[in-house]
Amino acid sequence: MIMREEDDIVKKIERKIRRAISKFHMYTPIDHIMLCAYPLPEGIVLAEYLARIEREFPRSKLTILVPEIISFNVKEHQQNIRIIRISEEVFSRVAKIAEEANKYNVPRGNLSLAALLSELQRLAREVEANKIALPLTADIEAYLAFEKVIYGHTPLLDMPLKVKINALARITLPMINVSNEDIRKFLSIKGDIYEELELPIEEDIVQWINKLEERSPGIIYGYLSNVERIMELKSEEIVICESCGRPSLNKLCNECRVIKLISST
Ligand SMILES: [Zn+2]
Repeated sequence: MIMREEDDIVKKIERKIRRAISKFHMYTPIDHIMLCAYPLPEGIVLAEYLARIEREFPRSKLTILVPEIISFNVKEHQQNIRIIRISEEVFSRVAKIAEEANKYNVPRGNLSLAALLSELQRLAREVEANKIALPLTADIEAYLAFEKVIYGHTPLLDMPLKVKINALARITLPMINVSNEDIRKFLSIKGDIYEELELPIEEDIVQWINKLEERSPGIIYGYLSNVERIMELKSEEIVICESCGRPSLNKLCNECRVIKLISST
């Protein structure tokens, strides 16, 4: 019975990841993907799946960034997979910037995401990766979008857009259709215990989003995928922030502008 349940949830998550990858054309067979295995434990779960999917693309490469404190190894087919340990320093730098959110009146979750992504863009250049994969689940991505709306900013999804990204790595979210609940089920069945790191988000709001989605399945996703139309944005108005690589209406997104200000003071 447990085996059956395990099989179901493992397959369900894999199906959702594969569907997102193909629907949004996230990867091509020659990509070098740099996966940041943070936040945890989602990052480790995604690392396991991407390592498996990577095997099907002999010319692709996968670099997995794992926080120093986590023990993680890819068991099979290591040829095209490289694991890089990233120091706690990176995360404490991000956390420090997040503390300034109120002072500058920007959303905290988005501010820390922009700070993390700016670091990741630098790392991607170093390892010559052309894609960054983040383990953001549907709940977290919806939270980040609503956080922006509340602050009067335009929420734009990190989906492949028809815009030039120049020297930046394109950000992909293979877990965009996976819910937090799926991850919890997966971990409880597998018995893997990873310490959950606290995220700079309002948990209550995530719960509300989950409830809304429970009431009307698909509502969040429907909203997110229609943001550009609802906000009456023209695709030519959307550019890529030159620091974090997220879609933006300006050369530097609101959050990266604040990060620049913080670092210069
Ligand atoms: Zn930015």
